[in-house]
Parts: sequence; structure tokens; C-alpha cells
Amino acid sequence: MMERRFPPWLKRKAPSPSDLKRMNELFDGLNLHTICVSAGCPNIGECFSRKTAAFLILGDNCTRRCGFCAVRKGAPLPVNNKEPESLLKAVRTLGLQYVVITSVTRDDLEDGGASQFVKVIEILHKEGIVVEVLIPDFCGSHEALTAVVGSSPHVINHNIETVPRLYGRVRPGAGYHRSLDLLFYVKQLDPSIITKSGLMAGLGESRNEVINVMRDLRKRGCDLLTIGQYLQPSSRHYPVASFISPERFSEYKRIGMEIGFASVASSPFVRSSYRASELYACAVSKNVLLPEAGTP
Ligand code: SF4
Repeated sequence: MMERRFPPWLKRKAPSPSDLKRMNELFDGLNLHTICVSAGCPNIGECFSRKTAAFLILGDNCTRRCGFCAVRKGAPLPVNNKEPESLLKAVRTLGLQYVVITSVTRDDLEDGGASQFVKVIEILHKEGIVVEVLIPDFCGSHEALTAVVGSSPHVINHNIETVPRLYGRVRPGAGYHRSLDLLFYVKQLDPSIITKSGLMAGLGESRNEVINVMRDLRKRGCDLLTIGQYLQPSSRHYPVASFISPERFSEYKRIGMEIGFASVASSPFVRSSYRASELYACAVSKNVLLPEAGTP
């Protein structure tokens, strides 16, 4: 994360070296990656001390060049066929009951990596684990998405990331409506899957633009929402336009709940996998499977 003067609410305790060492040894030994490390997540101290992590499958080289993302860009690695089994070993070692799986975007693969998601979901299902997948847009492929939905993860998360006006600069290669369509299509295919999305704040968006995105997501039946402060990973990445106050984050949460999300996590350090099991539990306790999404 790039060093700059942060407001007081963005100070975070340094992670414990022993927690980092223990977790990294486990993942390195199994040839696994986490988004926690690859994206330089500021919550790594907290999550690793609680022995939780969000797994990054399909390697740690991304085929897209999103301006906000710290994950390495470059030639993608061959798909590791041992990955589902290795991931299961890590999950058993950590005693996880709720697992978040994400991936780099693999535009080089014919199915965008969907079949690897399916293998991982299936192996975790056999173990009785609750599975949340944070998926890429699969270049809009319904076939790839249908395969993932067909393996019945409990939650499908797909981040909308930012407001449509900023897509060209922040998320080239993606499309605002393509991402909305993906979330809508999941609900059409299987309304029993909880859907989730996430937004970064502080990229230059206005309050009204954020509210409009929330409305767009709810119109597609999206159940859960995360909103957190964008932090620039390095001077080569998209700059932070502003630090959003904790009060504004609370306001977004209140408005999101009024708009009809089952739950909204909105505060400076929220990331899409942050305390994911708690957000899922909120949805389950409210028995969301909210009224079906209509035609947007
Ligand atoms: S918030 Fe998510 S990405 Fe960040 S450390 Fe926690 S589990 Fe990992």
C-alpha cells in the first residue's frame, strides 16, 4: 500500500509477524495464493490472527490491468490441477467452516477458469463447508457463469467496484452493465443463491452516484453489499481522490438498508471478503431470499 498521510480513522495495527509467518508457511507449502497477500489487504493482521483468508485460485498473475488492483499482471500460469485438493488441506488445517474463493481474471482460458471454480466448490461441498465465490465477469459468458451457478455455491459475489462514469479509467476491460447482468443472471438461474457485490469509495465518485449504483444492484436482486475505502497500492496505481469519512460510510449503510439489501457492510476497512461469514449469517438470519429480481 502506498505511504501517504492518512486521516486518523485509517490507522491500522501492524500485523503480528508470527501470524503472518504461520499462515504464509501453510499457503506456500501447499502452493496456494491468497488475495490477502496478493492485493496487500490492510486487514491481513486481523484476518490472519483469526486464521481466516480469502483464497486466490488460478495463479496470481492477472490478464487484466485494472488501475486500482495490486494483484500482479502478466503471463498467466498453467492451471494447477492439484489446487482443489491443496485448498481443502488448507481449509482443514485452519478449521474453516466458511470459505471465500476468488481468482485472478483468466481471459486466456476458454471458460475463464469457471471449471476450476466448479472443482473447488464441489470438493468443499463434500466437506460441508459454506462456500462464497467472488468471481470475475468471465467476459460475459453465460456458459461459464451457468457452470459456476450449477455447482451451487452458497454465495456468488461479483464486485461492481465503482460507478459507471469511472469505469473507463478504473476498470478498463470490464463493463458496468456486464457486471450488473451477471448478478441478475445468477438470480434468474438459481434464486436460492445469495448474491453479493462490492464498491470502493474514494475514487472520485459522488454520493448520488453511489446511491444510483446501489439501486441498480438491488434492481438485479443483489442481496448483500460491501463498501470500503479505496487505498492506492503504489504510485503506479489509480490515485485516491478522497478519504471518505466514517459518517459517510454509515450513511451509505443506512441508505443501502433502506433500498432493500439484506445487509450492508460499509466502513473504511471493509473489503469484499472481510468478515464474510458474518454478512452471510445476516442474510440467512433474515431468511433473505428476497423477492425475486424482476426485469431491470
Ligand atoms: S479482508 Fe479479505 S482479503 Fe483482506 S485479509 Fe481479510 S480475508 Fe483477506
